[in-house]
Amino acid sequence: MPDFETRNPARPAEVVGRYAGTTAEGLERALAAAARAQASWRRIAGVERALALGRFLDAVAARSGDIARAITREQGKPLAEARSETAKAIAEGRAMAAFVATDSGEVRPSARAGVRNMVLRRPRGVIGAITPWNFPILTPMRKIAPAVAFGNAIVLKPSEFAPAAAQLVVDAARGVLPDDLVQIVLGGAEVGGALVSHAGVAGVTFTGSVATGKRVYAAAAAHLAEVSLELGGKNAAVVHDAPDLGACLDQVMLAACLCAGQRCTAISRVIVRRALHDDTVAGLAERAAAAKLGDGLDPATTMGPLTTAHQLAHVRELVEAGVAAGARVVTGGRPVEVAGCEGGYFHAPTVLDRVDAGNRVAREEIFGPVISVIAYDTLDEAFSILNGVGYGLTSSLFSQDAGVIRRFVDESENGMIHVNHGTIPDNHMPFGGIKDSGVGAYSVGPSAAHFHTTEHSVYLG
Ligand code: NAD
Repeated sequence: MPDFETRNPARPAEVVGRYAGTTAEGLERALAAAARAQASWRRIAGVERALALGRFLDAVAARSGDIARAITREQGKPLAEARSETAKAIAEGRAMAAFVATDSGEVRPSARAGVRNMVLRRPRGVIGAITPWNFPILTPMRKIAPAVAFGNAIVLKPSEFAPAAAQLVVDAARGVLPDDLVQIVLGGAEVGGALVSHAGVAGVTFTGSVATGKRVYAAAAAHLAEVSLELGGKNAAVVHDAPDLGACLDQVMLAACLCAGQRCTAISRVIVRRALHDDTVAGLAERAAAAKLGDGLDPATTMGPLTTAHQLAHVRELVEAGVAAGARVVTGGRPVEVAGCEGGYFHAPTVLDRVDAGNRVAREEIFGPVISVIAYDTLDEAFSILNGVGYGLTSSLFSQDAGVIRRFVDESENGMIHVNHGTIPDNHMPFGGIKDSGVGAYSVGPSAAHFHTTEHSVYLG
């Protein structure tokens, strides 16, 4: 991979980082060194590994100011969001350490007298990890922390658009974790493809788009590596009844516009009971119009730019297609210029109304600050719209009605189901999706064990 540079999406003329791309030989060296490091690390007791992970997280925390600034300068989000992302990454890592320190496997009943049965887990080996650009520390750490805690080595390839935070995290491991246990390789599709195709990688964990996820799945299948894929979403909030509609819309807007909507868990559809439709549209438009767009390092900024020119073009194209198919722009609806941020990739927070459930803008992942409002008359209709997309990542319902809540919990075709709040997940709960949103074990919390370890049924006679 050739050397490459990253640019500030708020002012693309500004080069932020210069990186040496990893060569084919460099990747071989990284994987061989990782395998050597793992051979020793796997013999360390889980409790000790968890303690070491804690020391590594302390080292990451000591660099959190630099990490947050690096995130804002390469990815674009406001500094306050970059700080929260860094804090959440560390908190999730600590929850993982606590789980591994107390995990004792399972004792199962035996079919034979005098025999004791157990299900035990062992480290998987060398993990190959690929991450996107929207959460430059959270996603890499969701892969590094469990890999280390469960006794693996990891070779991470972060996004070529925002690798600085991951580089700082890997630097923090130096002198705290064994040499070569946590490694980084740099570049784009070529380096990522070589990593996930390598026979020395026992598990492939990928977060990114569906199209790339399918390629990664096929490459991992060719050498029968374990896979965990976390892909896109077309998440909805169903607003059925909300005694405090204002509080509900605050949550929806936050879930829609954090990270300028570039979250796989962003709410991009609001499916609203017709009686609440007008107030919902007005309330969302008011909140969207209050956003202050700008450079994420400016403390007044509440929403940064999109991260790449390609992403801005994608959002613009999908909004235009939605409007051409009958959606009405209530507010926003186009890219905007921001004073002092020449050429920045800004898109106005946008509310689209009268969106038909079959409209592309209501079906395809947009990954931008755009909400499509769809009204419904019956609950059956609401559920049909909710589940009528290819994705199945996260969802939220606002209702006080026990019957409606029960139905949502049973029927929402999503990996994550929230009632009466937005879509921000806890630090210790399984994170992942069904349908086109993911394959394999969820990350975060105990379910990470299913990807990061192999399972062994033991019969002690
Ligand atoms: P992307 O799929 O374009 O790239 C993701 C990563 O894959 C990058 O590091 C890229 O260099 C690498 N890559 C590209 N081609 C590859 C190949 N052939 N083999 C191996 N690696 C390859 O995604 P993106 O544009 O960086 O991120 C946006 C997407 O990520 C959105 O679709 C979003 O929904 C998804 N996402 C999902 C989650 C989740 O947890 N479900 C979280 C964040 C982002």
